[in-house]
Amino acid sequence: MRKQIAAANWKMNLTLQQGVELIGNILKNNISLSDQRQTLFAVPFPFLQAAQQAIDAHPHYFIAAQNCHFQKSGAFTGEVSAEMLASIGIRYVIVGHSERREYFSESNQILAEKINRCLENQLKPIFCCGESLAVREAGNQNQYVSTQLHESLFHLTADQVRNFIIAYEPIWAIGTGKTASSAQAQEMHLHIRSVIEKQYSSEIASSVSILYGGSVKANNAREIFGETDVDGGLVGGASLAAEEFSSIIRSLQ
Ligand code: PEP
Repeated sequence: MRKQIAAANWKMNLTLQQGVELIGNILKNNISLSDQRQTLFAVPFPFLQAAQQAIDAHPHYFIAAQNCHFQKSGAFTGEVSAEMLASIGIRYVIVGHSERREYFSESNQILAEKINRCLENQLKPIFCCGESLAVREAGNQNQYVSTQLHESLFHLTADQVRNFIIAYEPIWAIGTGKTASSAQAQEMHLHIRSVIEKQYSSEIASSVSILYGGSVKANNAREIFGETDVDGGLVGGASLAAEEFSSIIRSLQ
């Protein structure tokens, strides 16, 4: 069975003290999780180790980085490599968030390289894909997302794609308060799964966790996560408040 995951993306928010307090308040709720129902916190680089310590005794919680560089190492001032993340015990990295694609010009080809660096270092990428409003209004969203998958992911072997994590995040729904309807989310998640099936196999496609991202809140998570091909969420704004995010974690199915 594929994993159901509630992933928090703090982006460039919170101080260290606020972040550790937030994790502590969520852990206090003793939400029942398992190998199949997990929670990730994607925190800013300077907080990674303190966040790791905060979840230390909590087996189904993990810390993720929000990015890594596409080169192994070298003269890239201010950047962080996959190897560095692995060396401090990090196991998950968000790759290809739409904000990185837009503000830092990350192309599908660069993201393919980032995924390679992650896998070389036993890091699990959370690969983000999703279309803009203009693409959706033109009715080209399926083709657009297929191209993202083909250009960033489909150079991998079936074994590398097994149990992969993808986050479908329609750009028009991120931080806008506009959520895709649960039917729209299901339609795209099914499309993503069928593209993976065509490239690899149905066994591989059904092992991939596909998270939905875009204005997930406590009051819509249960409905969205209830869709057959939605395996949890990648959550920005609503992950910054302990009770709101706890309720989202409890909505995993
Ligand atoms: C995100 O940035 O991944 C995201 C989904 O943000 P929000 O939940 O705020 O829309």
